[in-house]
Amino acid sequence: KASKLPDVKTTIFTTVGNLARAHNAIDLSQGFPNFEADDKLKSLVTDALNNGHNQYAPMPGYFGLREAISEKIEILHNRTYDPENEVTVTVGATEAIFTAITAFINKGDEVIVIKPAYDCYEPAIILNGGIPVYVQLDAPDYKIDWSVFQQKITDKTKMVILNTPHNPSGTILSKWDMEQLEAILKPTNILLLSDEVYEHIIFDKQTHESASRFNDLAQRSFICASFGKTFHVTGWKVGYCVAPAELMKEFRKVHQFAVFCVDHPVQRALAEYLKNPSHYLDLNNFYKQKRDFFLEGIKSSKFKFRPSKGTYFQLLDYSTISMEQDEIIGKRLITENGIASIPISSFNVNNRNDHMLRFCFAKKQETLEQAVQILCKL
Ligand code: GLN
Repeated sequence: KASKLPDVKTTIFTTVGNLARAHNAIDLSQGFPNFEADDKLKSLVTDALNNGHNQYAPMPGYFGLREAISEKIEILHNRTYDPENEVTVTVGATEAIFTAITAFINKGDEVIVIKPAYDCYEPAIILNGGIPVYVQLDAPDYKIDWSVFQQKITDKTKMVILNTPHNPSGTILSKWDMEQLEAILKPTNILLLSDEVYEHIIFDKQTHESASRFNDLAQRSFICASFGKTFHVTGWKVGYCVAPAELMKEFRKVHQFAVFCVDHPVQRALAEYLKNPSHYLDLNNFYKQKRDFFLEGIKSSKFKFRPSKGTYFQLLDYSTISMEQDEIIGKRLITENGIASIPISSFNVNNRNDHMLRFCFAKKQETLEQAVQILCKL
């Protein structure tokens, strides 16, 4: 039988994670914290379970959580999303992304994808008959050249997918970048899918320039986010999408038949936990300390790097150690040196090799110490 996704293999996160476990390697590959979430948040889930919130939540999400999400966006970005019809709770950001693409992409529609890109965008586009159109960014800056971007727009362009802070490069888009995008999209009907899952992990006094801050972008945007990243609970798989009502109406048509609704007790807990803004505002500082510890530790190693500006990922350039393909050196670091990372080629167009490996620093102090020791010996 013909495959609908002939070029898709098992994700790099699964294959590298399995290899890391098999070799008992220090695992800085897949992006997840190896420390516990706040006990308070966990006990709020237990409370919700014990208080009988164990049946289906409303299809668009528990209303109290939708209100809390709306308030958070208003506090941070000064835009109001109506919790009734402009906010939907999703099964992680992944479902939000898949749903937005499925609701709007038809056969032959072009979708601009900035590479390197997280791996869930393209399969969703292709499954819906869409055509990914790539803008490949170059190492080590991974900056968007907006004139190159503009040249990719055709009368078939239906959607642009953007990710800031950016996985895997740790770059962020500035206000100026967002204004360039806004000016380019203004005369068009092109939709924006803005993947902002690392919205609360941004360093050095930079501001997260959410698409919701820009009038003309907000009107055409699905903004996707993830509580997994923000509250150290990637395994809970709860996120959300906000969009103007007429876009959200179509989004919910897909959401209701893909999953109908999301884990109810967890939604109750998150709604309560979000009432204290320090639970997300303190995250920048928390991860800055981890980034700084990691970078200070590898200062004397052979790796070259530009400090990550956001996300919990750091790219390391290994070209002074070897000019091998990143997958090969990445594998060897697992099997021979006991440390796992993600080769950036899996995010690039045609597996192009930038000689970069991505390391996740959302790890306990002792894990980071062990990682630094290994990396300094290479
Ligand atoms: N977003 C995580 C990463 O980039 C991976 C999540 C997954 O494995 N699907 O590491």
